[in-house]
Amino acid sequence: MNCPRHTDLVATLEHSRSGLRDSHRRALMRVLFGVTGAALLPFACLQILNGYWWVGALELSASATLFYGLVRLRTTPHLQQWIYVYLVTLFSFFLIIMVLPQASVAAFVWVLMMPVLAYLLLGKHEGMILSIPFMVLGGVIYFIHLGNVGSASRMIDLLNLVLCGALMQWFIHLYEVKREEAEQRLVDMAQTDALTGLANRSSFQSTLSRTIAECERSGTGFALVVMDIDHFKVVNDTLGHDAGDHVLKHIAGILNERLRGTDSVGRIGGEEFGLVLRDVKPADAFELMDELRQRIASRTMNYGEADVRVTASFGIAQWPDHGREPETLFSVADRCLYSGKRSGRNRVARAESGAPLHQGDLLAGSPQ
Ligand code: GH3
Ligand code: MG
Ligand code: MG
Repeated sequence: MNCPRHTDLVATLEHSRSGLRDSHRRALMRVLFGVTGAALLPFACLQILNGYWWVGALELSASATLFYGLVRLRTTPHLQQWIYVYLVTLFSFFLIIMVLPQASVAAFVWVLMMPVLAYLLLGKHEGMILSIPFMVLGGVIYFIHLGNVGSASRMIDLLNLVLCGALMQWFIHLYEVKREEAEQRLVDMAQTDALTGLANRSSFQSTLSRTIAECERSGTGFALVVMDIDHFKVVNDTLGHDAGDHVLKHIAGILNERLRGTDSVGRIGGEEFGLVLRDVKPADAFELMDELRQRIASRTMNYGEADVRVTASFGIAQWPDHGREPETLFSVADRCLYSGKRSGRNRVARAESGAPLHQGDLLAGSPQ
């Protein structure tokens, strides 16, 4: 059984890394390009004054490139590539300023910036893959730079960097793992019906829209089914609301056990469920739903001392025969459902395939 996920939320998750959507990452990259480009200018001057004219020239051209990128980043469709080029260049630059013969000890602090930037811009996996090799390289350069590590003070310097770098990497990774888990939990909660565990109405509607888009591409069909429990109010009125809740969970269980992996089901109202049956012909959808109808009608649910039995009515609309839009399909399935209710309930009703829906076109499955 396929529990659908809310398309918009899924898209948001897919296009988000470290909690930043593409638009945020784009804005952050532009800030980084501006800040780095501006910061490089005084450093370039100082390097030239220091005699490292080639480093100064490199920094000046890097600064010009960053300002050009600042403009391009506004619209480029290749944001990910820009981020990679930026990070790899920046991290390589951090390493270069460390290997300069008169490198300042303070230059090593930039190694600690690597995991922060990589995780923020690339997310957990890619951030880790990019930052770890650069961090290790930074550590090795620092080790070489220290020279004689035999002395206690050198050992302290080395341990400071190694420990601080490793802890920084670990804490950022841990934070990102926990943040992703919390985000996923929130998304699941927003998509799930708390009582039955099925997809909720908005999530089901997203699945329907996504199914339509996929079927438009593949040319396959599907059926939308709306199912409503018969006389459900009587259960509530005679046994109480809690018994009604048990019935809803019991029905959700039957739907879950019967439907195929490619089908989707959701609770779209109080005692109303929606089903999307992929790749089915109208006759097969009808048969499948009639089997489900019989299964529901034949099961007894125990609630305290009481044995509860319910029936359900089904309305089926076929895509694209009865409409191409979700609203049209829902309205056809609803009309079929209520025609089944009118004919005595415990019915499966569908509009006749290929023809526009009229009351006389409805086919109903009778209880056996
Ligand atoms: P019909 O055969 O025409 O569908 O009749 P019905 O009694 O099933 O339909 P009606 O619309 O009259 O009543 C639906 C009832 O479902 C009313 C409402 O109190 C109840 N209901 C809606 N949501 C829940 C819920 O989450 N839990 C419980 N226990 N009852 C609910
Ligand atoms: Mg009902
Ligand atoms: Mg109802």
